[in-house]
Amino acid sequence: METRRKAPCGQAASVGVPVGCVRIAKAALRYCTCVVLLSENVRKYIYMMKKISRRSFLQVCGITAATAALTACGGTAAQEMQSIQVFAMDTVMDLTAYGENAAAALTDASREINRLERLLSRTIDTSEISQINAGGAVTVSEETASLLAQAQTYTAATDGAFDVTIAPLVSLWGITTDSPYVPTQQEIDALLPLVGSEHLHLSGDTATLDDGCAIDLGGIAKGYASDRVAAIFARHGITSGTISLGGNVYVCGSKPNGQPWVVAIQNPRSDGYAVTVALMDSFAVTSGGYQRYYTAPDGTVYQHILDPKTGYPVESDLLSVSILCDNGTMADAYSTALYVMGSAGAQAFWRTHGGFEMILITTAGQVLYTPGLSEKITPTEGSGYEYVSIHP
Ligand code: ADP
Ligand code: MG
Repeated sequence: METRRKAPCGQAASVGVPVGCVRIAKAALRYCTCVVLLSENVRKYIYMMKKISRRSFLQVCGITAATAALTACGGTAAQEMQSIQVFAMDTVMDLTAYGENAAAALTDASREINRLERLLSRTIDTSEISQINAGGAVTVSEETASLLAQAQTYTAATDGAFDVTIAPLVSLWGITTDSPYVPTQQEIDALLPLVGSEHLHLSGDTATLDDGCAIDLGGIAKGYASDRVAAIFARHGITSGTISLGGNVYVCGSKPNGQPWVVAIQNPRSDGYAVTVALMDSFAVTSGGYQRYYTAPDGTVYQHILDPKTGYPVESDLLSVSILCDNGTMADAYSTALYVMGSAGAQAFWRTHGGFEMILITTAGQVLYTPGLSEKITPTEGSGYEYVSIHP
């Protein structure tokens, strides 16, 4: 589900939308000077897409889609820009590349994203994840086995804050579905014993789940897809490009004029950005509870990231967590996990593990950033946030 048109540099390709949808994404991408991915129009588009045909992929609603957005400018006349928009994994995804191989790279990238959706979605019956969830010992591809093994590594590293076996509870709550539900404590208690990476057994290319257990890669699949697209860009020799798979952003090389790309982290409290970061060759992944949530009739807000230890939606002192590093899969897993941990836990985790930069936006009105970002970030004037470097 994609359309593409070539455009000279300095003007983004016009982006079409699938039959039956209004042509609204176009406006969001018309300007090379500032590509804002989370426009109201894009939200409406996502909403319409969900209404029209798509089921939820990996229990993921596309509205988190742009917790991080890109601003870009500075193409030279010598380099043509190509853009493509793909709707997959319940998310509007935008990919842009410069240079002579740009079109081929984007075509391969969109094919790859669709292939990964078919492989990893738990709402597509034929996917390998659905087969594992159906029970029994399942022979899976080396790729799926490897991704599940990585997920288990992140579960161990985060002391269970990130855990793909959270699936039964994700289904019970249904936060991102059309029928969210606030379960009773008894219902939660009944499912909690099914959560834990010890229930997923991996042996070579065979994956087996204990009875009643299920897996959901919603917290990691887009990150993995971004790694794969980055590899495709590299194979095609792309040295300038951007991808935004929902809240999972990758900036390839630099802007065509050699300047860093600018990634904007959305202000969770209002439209606009809380902070921007100048980046080259980096992944930037944001998780938060402020876009995909359910407000119960009594006014209680339940958001879509669950604490595997309690079975409840996280009640965090964080509004969002952004992880910036050179590994999209890890960034995705960690952004989810560190949101579960809360501000103090996330900072302690970073001090112990390192290997990534991060930006925490707290309910207390602070933007906390790791010192490695101090030369790269630009606070948003008048945002009301206090910008504080995290103590190493
Ligand atoms: P998004 O995919 O919306 O950008 P995340 O990467 O943070 O956001 O993933 C959230 C999704 O991951 C949820 O919608 C759910 O499918 C799944 N999930 C929820 N809680 C957890 C958790 N603690 N560990 C792993 N996956 C989770
Ligand atoms: Mg994640």
